[in-house]
Amino acid sequence: MDLSSLLDGLNDKQREAVSAPQSSMLVLAGAGSGKTRVLTHRIAWLMQEEQQSPYSILAVTFTNKAAAEMRERVEKVSGSNMGRMWIGTFHGLAHRLLRTHYQDANLPQSFQILDSDDQLRLIKRILKSLNLDEKQYPPRQAQGYINGKKDQGLRPKHIDTTGFPIEQNLLKIYQVYQESCDRAGLVDFAEILLRAHELWLNKPHILEHYQDRFKNILVDEFQDTNAIQYAWIRVLAGNSANVMIVGDDDQSIYGWRGAQVENLHKFLDDFPHAQTIRLEQNYRSSANILNASNELIANNPDRLGKKLWTEDKAGEQIGLYCAFNEMDEARFIVGRIMDWQDMGGNLSDCAILYRSNAQSRVLEEALLHKGMAYRIYGGLRFFERQEIKDAMGYLRLISNKNDDAAFERIINTPARGIGGRTLDILRSTARQQELTLWQTCLRLLDEKVLSGRAANAVRGFMDLIVTLQQDTEEHSLHRMTDHVIQTSGLKTMYEAEKGEKARARVENLEELVTAARTFVMPEDLEDMGELNAFLSHAALEAGEGQADAFTDAVQLMTLHSAKGLEFPMVFMAGVEEGIFPSQMAMDEGDRLDEERRLCYVGMTRAMKQLYITYAESRRIYGRENFARPSRFIKEIPSEYVQEIRLKAQVTAPTNRFSNRINSAISDSRNRPVRAVAGHESGFSIGQRVMHFKFGEGKVIDLEGNGEQAVIEVNFDDVGRKRLKIAFARLEKV
Ligand code: ATP
Ligand code: MG
Repeated sequence: MDLSSLLDGLNDKQREAVSAPQSSMLVLAGAGSGKTRVLTHRIAWLMQEEQQSPYSILAVTFTNKAAAEMRERVEKVSGSNMGRMWIGTFHGLAHRLLRTHYQDANLPQSFQILDSDDQLRLIKRILKSLNLDEKQYPPRQAQGYINGKKDQGLRPKHIDTTGFPIEQNLLKIYQVYQESCDRAGLVDFAEILLRAHELWLNKPHILEHYQDRFKNILVDEFQDTNAIQYAWIRVLAGNSANVMIVGDDDQSIYGWRGAQVENLHKFLDDFPHAQTIRLEQNYRSSANILNASNELIANNPDRLGKKLWTEDKAGEQIGLYCAFNEMDEARFIVGRIMDWQDMGGNLSDCAILYRSNAQSRVLEEALLHKGMAYRIYGGLRFFERQEIKDAMGYLRLISNKNDDAAFERIINTPARGIGGRTLDILRSTARQQELTLWQTCLRLLDEKVLSGRAANAVRGFMDLIVTLQQDTEEHSLHRMTDHVIQTSGLKTMYEAEKGEKARARVENLEELVTAARTFVMPEDLEDMGELNAFLSHAALEAGEGQADAFTDAVQLMTLHSAKGLEFPMVFMAGVEEGIFPSQMAMDEGDRLDEERRLCYVGMTRAMKQLYITYAESRRIYGRENFARPSRFIKEIPSEYVQEIRLKAQVTAPTNRFSNRINSAISDSRNRPVRAVAGHESGFSIGQRVMHFKFGEGKVIDLEGNGEQAVIEVNFDDVGRKRLKIAFARLEKV
């Protein structure tokens, strides 16, 4: 691509940033102003205009999905293959570094990643071995403590031990936890970053090599970097690299995970010659959506302050729907998506965003009921599903027998008569003798410590693993996976379980074989072997490359994982006090600001249509709650909002799901039903009407006024249609 087209499609400010002389730079701008676009074009510019080699470029994004998109965009803009270029997430890049320099990082070649589930399991085990009560030391709190310290770059030896007894014990847990990870060759997510940082500090020759190489460092979503991530970049940049960071302080949503907006200031101190460029035009959202979002975020104190405007027209108002309960809410959302589809829209244009993962289940049920394809980012990711983790446990143990997390997971899955008591013995011996569980088994069998039955069971398990390993040595990855699933007894176990869920599990196991078959070995990881590469891929990319990526599907995700993305139609569900903002955030002032930023992130994902929904009552986390609409709703000026009134008519129950909805609605009979009686359009619900094309039908819903008024008619021949009254040319009959 030539020069002019590289700068085409950019406004003056964007152009200035893309074509600036080589130096460090901060691009500070609000949502949808083209920050990511600028970053991508800058990479292409550096290569074409500044003759920088792709090898000299390191680009950091927030998710694997964003990294893949960026690689694709750079390839498109520059017209060349960027296969080996370092574009990735902090974790992905740091992991790549550790794989290459595992010895210098003090790791075994076969080291594996401990995801947060396995981490929690390990912490529970450690609490037990230290005789600490889970009530006094909730495992999640200990987990937060460990990860928090690591995010600040702190090892146990750096932590002051003179604190309160609780702190001392947390420190002890951290210590023992780290020792067992080291023995087992496991690194958790925070450890990946910490070790990569320590690699810079402890091995100057390695640092020098990369400093010579990466002369251009670019970071997207900079506002969400934490201390260790910034330190990693800072050290790598040294005194000579040009660092371009792009970010938006109003979108900082990971404070709870240690992200620091202050890094923006730190950057300006550390790179005093950096130029700051502000972008002010938004290209994503209609004016209504943008103005509403600006008004909302204006309620936050201490903002760096940015203007954001659009040339786009006002567009549709934000639809606000008050549901009776969570099922009614889901029904409403699915109804709107069906309408979108009827009007020729794609399912993948629609995103449903929610505050917490637990909210997805009801939405999923409603989508399933209508046979509508959907994809979930985060949450129930493919590689996080129980059966997949079981199968991966076998593969991990085959790769590394000292992998305690995998060992624990599968030693009695499927059941093979290894009980809690035997496990307790294994754990405590392992701890006392500083051995891994596998080594402990070898020793206990050797010393004949276990009872006859337990010994046989343990020996049987170990034989199984060794045989699996020998039998599959020459196999390709997918044949190996298939063999393991069949021979381990996992498949048989899930086949024996009855019901939908078990069937899905068996299907998932089968899908894993496909995943192994289609797995492409990254070129730069060739020496680590296919199995290890696949295991790391599963841990790092969980869910982001789901198998059904190519089918048209509604997108479901938490507000957090929606960052950086955009969709024509966005639903924000469960916008209620106690859910969003979350109860926890409501108790703390700072956290409330962060929730508001999260709301800003959610709203600014929408291009054309935004719906906000809340329920009067909701069953969530196993309890029934009666909540008030979120304060965020009240912070949006009413001129941008249109309240959608409830349907008066409910179609006859056809199955369990709609039964539940109907009963939920009739449960709330004694509350005022806000059905529309007389509408200014002159139509009313239940009335028969005639359309020139669709024929006769009955009005089932009316909402909005004036030009925006919409009518829903159930036509005798063609079924339900939503029409704008102004254009529908309906006649009463
Ligand atoms: P976020 O803060 O949400 O990450 P962003 O600032 O990174 O947003 P982009 O995703 O880069 O914004 O851009 C938002 C949308 O606007 C994209 O669809 C992008 O292609 C489009 N866009 C950006 N700049 C221009 C431009 N100059 N002309 C037309 N469209 C543009
Ligand atoms: Mg972006």
